[in-house]
Amino acid sequence: MKLQGTATVNEQGHLTIGGCDAVELVKSFGSPLYVMDEALLRENCRVYHQAFCAGGAGEVLYAGKTFLTLAMCRLVEDAGLGLDVVSGGELYTARRAGFPMDRVYFHGNNKTPAELMQALDYGVGQVVVDNLYEMAMLNNLAAGREVPVKVLLRITPGIECHTHEFIRTGQIDSKFGFALPTGQALEAVKAVIDHSHLVFTGLHCHIGSQIFELTSFGYAATVMMEFIAEIRRQTGVTVGTLNLGGGFGIRYTEADTPGDLAAYARLVLDTVAREAHRCGLSVPKVVVEPGRSIAGPAGTTLYTVGSVKEIRGVRRYVAVDGGMTDNPRPALYGSRYEAMLANKADREAVEVVSITGKCCESGDMLIWDIALPKVESGDILAVSCTGAYNYTMSMNYNRLAKPAVIFVRDGQAAVVVERESLDDLIRNDRIPPYLQGRS
Ligand SMILES: *Cc1c(COP(=O)(O)O)cnc(C)c1O
Repeated sequence: MKLQGTATVNEQGHLTIGGCDAVELVKSFGSPLYVMDEALLRENCRVYHQAFCAGGAGEVLYAGKTFLTLAMCRLVEDAGLGLDVVSGGELYTARRAGFPMDRVYFHGNNKTPAELMQALDYGVGQVVVDNLYEMAMLNNLAAGREVPVKVLLRITPGIECHTHEFIRTGQIDSKFGFALPTGQALEAVKAVIDHSHLVFTGLHCHIGSQIFELTSFGYAATVMMEFIAEIRRQTGVTVGTLNLGGGFGIRYTEADTPGDLAAYARLVLDTVAREAHRCGLSVPKVVVEPGRSIAGPAGTTLYTVGSVKEIRGVRRYVAVDGGMTDNPRPALYGSRYEAMLANKADREAVEVVSITGKCCESGDMLIWDIALPKVESGDILAVSCTGAYNYTMSMNYNRLAKPAVIFVRDGQAAVVVERESLDDLIRNDRIPPYLQGRS
């Protein structure tokens, strides 16, 4: 496993993150445990801010669906980033954290009337309108308000990216947004201009996630700028904001080869400026929405090894005390991860094993075929790069309680989400009266 951020190995041969011994963290906070390297979170935010916001030009929105808690909202606000939310629940989290609502963009392909109302009540900065149903509904809801609602339109530019099919969203056949190649995007622009309670501020696209080819981003920027030129020809309207979404890939295993963040920023900003010049347009404000590349590398999940089962001549199964409930990505997408034994971090790999969870599903595998030092029950397994789409996708299958989340920095650990208790698991259960009596 490649050590990232503040991760290192101490004299006892233990993995440390944020100056905290991983073995001690499990003793203090239990297992499984999500550990977030706060310095790396901040550093990733800083690098994005520097790349896109220098001179006050652009804006960076952290994609909350990646990993969102009250503490994370505070950290994102501190870092000078905005926030992109996709539900009433994420909106509520941001609000309760006191996040500045004018820096919140509200996404989603099927926002409910209640969620839109909530967004207007909170005063969110922008709503990213996905479809005509939503556009009409939002216009009606905005009619009774003093200020019109600022909206971006979500566009599917028709770009295929080389990434897993389930996380491709830029191609025409997508549930997201207005298709550009079919002419529906232009119709939507004309429609939004006619809605008197909406202010059309710009366009949004998001071509997919875990993308390594920087040229995909440059191509998306070019296609969107050509569309902005087309909008001006057809309507006379100048688009002020171009939001190019997230999607920058990260290194989960050695098979992943992410590009350079600074090169990505340069490519996107240069492409937008060049195309604006070529089309005789003013340069729009460029907004990006990174999620995975901020939170992913900062997270490590610690597990305790339980049963180690050898199927002679076939495979050694190492079972941990979590699994698809705290990290559904391998089961969902076939995602691959690296890991190490946190209590034997200085030892050589001597065997190849497969890591399985404790759920009643054969698909509950975390890692197939990983080389590790001799694994024994009681060892602490650290799986790296779990900061994105793990806690937010976690679930209670088999009535497993969700792990705690801690931030670590400078030798200090702070709980940002408490471990669920057994009582939490039955908190919303009710026994209807006719089942309450015992015969
Ligand atoms: C998921 C998503 C993002 C973040 O994507 P990452 O790959 O995590 O950077 C940004 N914008 C939108 C609209 C998304 O759906």
